[in-house]
Amino acid sequence: MSPNSAGMKRLHDLRLKLGEISDQLERGPRQVAARKQIIDRKKVELEAQRTRLKQMKVGADQKNLQLKSSESRIYDLNGKLNIAANQREYEALRSQIAADTMSKSVLEDEILEAFEMVDAAQRDIKNVELDIATSETEVNTLTASVQAKEAGLKEQAAAIQVEVAEAEKILPPDVIPQYRRLIAAYGADALAPVVNRSCSQCYVALTAQLLVELRSGSVKFCTCGRLMYSADQAN
Ligand SMILES: [Zn+2]
Repeated sequence: MSPNSAGMKRLHDLRLKLGEISDQLERGPRQVAARKQIIDRKKVELEAQRTRLKQMKVGADQKNLQLKSSESRIYDLNGKLNIAANQREYEALRSQIAADTMSKSVLEDEILEAFEMVDAAQRDIKNVELDIATSETEVNTLTASVQAKEAGLKEQAAAIQVEVAEAEKILPPDVIPQYRRLIAAYGADALAPVVNRSCSQCYVALTAQLLVELRSGSVKFCTCGRLMYSADQAN
C-alpha cells in the first residue's frame, strides 16, 4: 500500500470502529424503550382484566340477591301452604314451590360458576401483576447497565473522534465537503476500498485509468457516491 492508501484504510477502520460504538450507544436505549413498551401494553391489558373482574363480581352479587329473594319467596309459599284453604290451592302452591326450587337450584349452580370465574380472573390478574413487577425489575437493571456502559462508550467515541480528525488530514481539501456529506449519509460506508478492481460498495468494475489514478494515491468518488481508495495493490 502506498502511504495514502494505508492512511485511507486507517481512516476507514477508525470510522468503522466509531460506527460500532454509535450503534452500541443507540442499541441500549432502544432495548430499554422496547421493553418499556411491552410493559405498557401489559398494563393496559391488566386494566382491562380488572374491569372484567369488577363486572364479574357485580354479576355474581346480582345473582346472589336473586337467590335471596327466591329463598324468601319459597319460604313465603311454604307458609301459605300450611294455611291453604283447600286441596286445589294446596296443589297450586306445591307446584309453584317445586318450580321455584328448581330455578333456585339452577341459580345456585350459576352462582358457583360465577365465583369460580371470579377466582380464576383474580389468579390471572395476580400472575400478570407478578409478571409486570418482574419485567419492571429487569428493565431497571437493564437501564442501569446501559447507563453504566454509556459513559465508557462516549469516552471511547471521543478518543476515536480525535484519531479520526487526525486521520482525515490526509484527505485532499477539495474532497472534504463531499466527504462530510457522505459520512452524514452513510457513516463508515462512505468510504470504499477498491477490491478486485471494483468498488467494494457497489461492485462496479473500474476503468484501467481510474485504477492507475487510485494506485498512485488519489482518492476518487465512485458512481455510487462513495469515496474510493486503493487497497488491493498488495494482491
Ligand atoms: Zn461504488
